[in-house]
Amino acid sequence: MVDWYEQADVGGGVVRISEPHVNDLLSANFWWLRGAGRDIVVDAGLGVVPLRAAIPGLFARDPLVVLTHAHLDHVGGAPAFAARAAHRAEADLLAAGVPASLDGAELYAALGIDAEPDSELMINVRPEPGYDPASYRIGPITLQHLLDDGDRVDLGGRELTVLHLPGHTPGSIALLEERTGTLYPGDVVYEGGLIDDLPNSDVADYRRSMEFLATLDVSVVHPGHGPSFDRARLHQLAETYLSRRR
Ligand SMILES: [Zn+2]
Repeated sequence: MVDWYEQADVGGGVVRISEPHVNDLLSANFWWLRGAGRDIVVDAGLGVVPLRAAIPGLFARDPLVVLTHAHLDHVGGAPAFAARAAHRAEADLLAAGVPASLDGAELYAALGIDAEPDSELMINVRPEPGYDPASYRIGPITLQHLLDDGDRVDLGGRELTVLHLPGHTPGSIALLEERTGTLYPGDVVYEGGLIDDLPNSDVADYRRSMEFLATLDVSVVHPGHGPSFDRARLHQLAETYLSRRR
């Protein structure tokens, strides 16, 4: 059995979980936040390897999983959680079953990406010898909580604010812990090529979201892909997007 998930304690009761054996496009971060009252998990990975078996501690305190948006690399593991939340604009997409495949060409076609995939298979190792990548899919995901802009998620002793930042998808959200200035933006902003040309992306919305982020006061950003970064880099990434899309 391969160690599928990598865990890193980033301090402040936050653990980053990532999937190193996944192709660059789909290798996402998700974030485990510990509160006095409950834990929350921001996103849930691809769902190739069952989370409950691989990271039992993640479920010890009945966490709420908050999905930043309805893409396979962020929601595949969500069915393992009993309590699930996302922005209401993603609810129908999740309930319909998000497009999912580990076959590059099939996935690009399902997502509506007009490009050649980098690799035939989206994972670079099989989690166990008999694993059949063709068996991978994500079933319908229902939500116990529908989120709106400005909602607060209370963990007991710490609180996150929901920021609706559409563009990548209609119901993309970021979570902001105001007390520590920590932002979890999902796929709204990260180091690397941002995606605003999927069938349900919207460049005008994305621009407004970036205008908001270009002046947001934060101390650290823990994104859906790649390394964490600071406020100066957040503002720079937002400005770069805005200048490219002017
Ligand atoms: Zn995405």
